[in-house]
Amino acid sequence: MADQTSRHAVIIGGSLGGLFAAAALRAVGWTVDIYERSISELDSRGGGLVMQPDLLEAFQFAGIAHAPQLGVPSRDRQYLDASGAVLFRQRMPQAQTAWSVLYNTLRAGLPDGVVHSGVALSDFEQDGACIDVMLSNGQRVRADLLIGADGPYSTTRSLLLPDDFPDYAGYVAWRGLLPETAVDRTTAARLADAFTFQSGDGHQLLTYLIPGEDGSTRAGERRWNWVWYRPLAAGAPLDAALTDRHRVQRALSVPPGALSDEIGARLQADAREQLAPALAALVHATEAPFLQVIQDYRAPRLVFGRALLLGDAAFVARPHTGAGAAKAAANAVALAQRLRDPERPIDEALKQWEAVEWRNGVRLCEFGVDLGAQIMGDLSPHPAP
Ligand SMILES: Cc1cc2nc3c(=O)[nH]c(=O)nc-3n(C[C@H](O)[C@H](O)[C@H](O)COP(=O)(O)OP(=O)(O)OC[C@H]3O[C@@H](n4cnc5c(N)ncnc54)[C@H](O)[C@@H]3O)c2cc1C
Repeated sequence: MADQTSRHAVIIGGSLGGLFAAAALRAVGWTVDIYERSISELDSRGGGLVMQPDLLEAFQFAGIAHAPQLGVPSRDRQYLDASGAVLFRQRMPQAQTAWSVLYNTLRAGLPDGVVHSGVALSDFEQDGACIDVMLSNGQRVRADLLIGADGPYSTTRSLLLPDDFPDYAGYVAWRGLLPETAVDRTTAARLADAFTFQSGDGHQLLTYLIPGEDGSTRAGERRWNWVWYRPLAAGAPLDAALTDRHRVQRALSVPPGALSDEIGARLQADAREQLAPALAALVHATEAPFLQVIQDYRAPRLVFGRALLLGDAAFVARPHTGAGAAKAAANAVALAQRLRDPERPIDEALKQWEAVEWRNGVRLCEFGVDLGAQIMGDLSPHPAP
């Protein structure tokens, strides 16, 4: 054990899953260290996400202070057709936030010294009640628990389940973020106060407002977030889209500013041809669209002695569920609740946590696959990219 009074967890991955786990465990008296492979802050890389109740509950549980308004409210859901006509509009109040708002809030709530950036997991060894974690900087850290919150291509998982990988779902998300003021008045009026969709012919675009880069939710300072799900066959078509402007073939995403000119121009042309005028205008006004492949993954189990998988390392749910971040938050809070009592054996607590969280994860993934089938139609199975 790391020390006699406080149980110690090593967390691999300093994105939302790792930060939620750290905050929740600290709230129940654990000491935590996060090791994040990326050297830089991750805050500029995320897009928009739905403000699910689990996110606020996780902040509350961990006692993390946050801005009074974390998201931008939308009053209605509306569905447009390709001509721009409103097919259907109904009241459905909800709020949307930005990945960066959650990330910055969580980072600000953790004391200095908890997150060790630029340090990756290399390996680990277990001997019953302890786990020794070997890191890329040569350090060996002894802990009571190792939490693999290192995402869809988790190193922790590859050490536990070397043959397990996410599967390509057969389609991608083209995405964009742009200042609220970057679109004309007609477009802004058409999209105001709504979470807007255009669906049909095996594709779907959705858009909503999210806070500005500085977290502002004031009118005029917010950003449009759009996501356009479109099929892309594995092999040459997908490879071409994932080849960036420097001719580097990327595995799973092309970040803002890195799409090749040819792929960017084709996206614009397709938007003009297939999307409602207001939605095509959004795509057109986006300076740096980006691309992410859609994947599926379900871990067969979550707990392996004193190592466990959490967040996207455990389950990659399709983004139609709007719940990737909320799932990670709920995983973290449930774990801390099980580990709150220092008298309770850790292994027993982990077993109970796994039983519930595994079922929840499977259900969420199944829901995501069903939604994906409704939106995209029947896409035949695809090998991993
Ligand atoms: C940059 C980014 C932007 C995102 N944007 C959105 C969004 O807009 N909307 C949405 O719904 N979801 C988004 N997601 C996904 C969403 O954040 C996740 O569903 C949710 O946060 C749970 O993810 P996670 O923390 O488990 O994994 P991830 O977010 O994938 O994070 C895993 C972390 O582990 C680190 N890591 C990987 N291997 C190692 C290793 N060996 N050693 C140390 N560290 C390692 C990675 O660098 C990464 O920071 C985003 C994820 C990322 C990384």
